[in-house]
Amino acid sequence: MTPTPSSTTDQAIGDTVDFVAGSARLTVRRAYCKGCKLCLDACPAAILVLDEEDLVTVTDINQCTFCGLCAARCPDFVFVLTPHSSTGLGQEGPG
Ligand code: SF4
Ligand code: SF4
Repeated sequence: MTPTPSSTTDQAIGDTVDFVAGSARLTVRRAYCKGCKLCLDACPAAILVLDEEDLVTVTDINQCTFCGLCAARCPDFVFVLTPHSSTGLGQEGPG
């Protein structure tokens, strides 16, 4: 599958995929997903789908509002949100 272009970066590390939009990030720990689809109905942006492996993935992270409903709904802690930092406290880098 072709990665989404422009400002979006999808970074796969094992079964964990970081979907990045600007300074915000939605980490999806696919190894924990059991394909129950609860998050699909919860997402107001309708950007969550199951792939051919029945594991959750994000279709367009630029549509994500970082509302956190997916993380709240998922019983298996698949989602980790790192919203935009307006305080300048958020830092990221190679270590
Ligand atoms: S944070 Fe909100 S908009 Fe983004 S994927 Fe999760 S439920 Fe959907
Ligand atoms: S709610 Fe969690 S376990 Fe269920 S499909 Fe979504 S990510 Fe997978």
